[in-house]
Amino acid sequence: MPESHVYINGEFCPKGEAKVSVYDHGFLYGDGVFEGIRAYHGQVFLCAEHLDRLYEGAQCLMIKIPNSKKEMRDILYRCLEKNGLQDAYFRLVVSRGPGDLGLSPKKCGEWGSVVCICASITLYPDSLYQKGLEVVTVAVPRAHPETLNPRVKSLNYLPNILAKIEGHNAGVEEVVMLNHRGEVSECSGDNLFIVKDGVVKTPPPSAVILEGCSRNLVLRLAREKGLEAAQPTLARYDLYTADECFLTGTAAEMIPVVKVDGRVIGGGRPGPVTQGLLGDFRRYIQEYRDPGVCGVSGHS
Ligand code: PMP
Repeated sequence: MPESHVYINGEFCPKGEAKVSVYDHGFLYGDGVFEGIRAYHGQVFLCAEHLDRLYEGAQCLMIKIPNSKKEMRDILYRCLEKNGLQDAYFRLVVSRGPGDLGLSPKKCGEWGSVVCICASITLYPDSLYQKGLEVVTVAVPRAHPETLNPRVKSLNYLPNILAKIEGHNAGVEEVVMLNHRGEVSECSGDNLFIVKDGVVKTPPPSAVILEGCSRNLVLRLAREKGLEAAQPTLARYDLYTADECFLTGTAAEMIPVVKVDGRVIGGGRPGPVTQGLLGDFRRYIQEYRDPGVCGVSGHS
């Protein structure tokens, strides 16, 4: 297989030579934003939604992205082409760029640095999609939304990493984080859903979540299926007594959960609503054509 190539500020570098400055404030301070995006059969999945979130995050952090959304979309497609991939996972990063050792972004120059890595990813083995995951709630809370709003997908993932470590210590692969009020928020890298009495429920943005592109799609698919889809505040009680539970995210896609803090959910098997939505989700992916960003026509 040919060596993969990484896009860095306008150029493609072979993977082994793809480097950023140690003075980059993304490296020194986690000062930047990123997206995890998938491509299926040559189409960048939910491209406009991911780019909107990236640009909104950069706007909040006052990082100027040197490319328009249209150019950024072209970069994603060029990455696919350069790496000869049809199905891929992108890591698109915009950092503050190189500065000096002070915190101040003033020394970093006017424009952020753009990196796009294009690879393949398998988060969980196939068997887990059939059998379902076990998760636990963890002690480390989501960061307070007034410290850093979780809707900014920033390069600061330390609370999530600490939560993941707690999960590993408890012998599970994914964890449920609570917010500063003790309400259910989301997982370390996925949004969380439950199904109760036929209603599909997921915490609202005010529960301190990253508003996932997959989450928003699943809410839409649920409604299109004629299901009631709600965004109420959820407590751990709601998870323990749910009929069904599942997670959504770009990397994980949609995966059932069958145990929460030792409580078996739905008899320990993925439930019918989850399986129905998973079918719809996969069909949506198969049929997906990128409609473009800002009125730019689809890529074929
Ligand atoms: N929550 C967190 C904390 C995430 O990092 C992610 C993405 N990995 C998600 C939710 C899911 O978002 P999306 O569906 O847009 O990938």
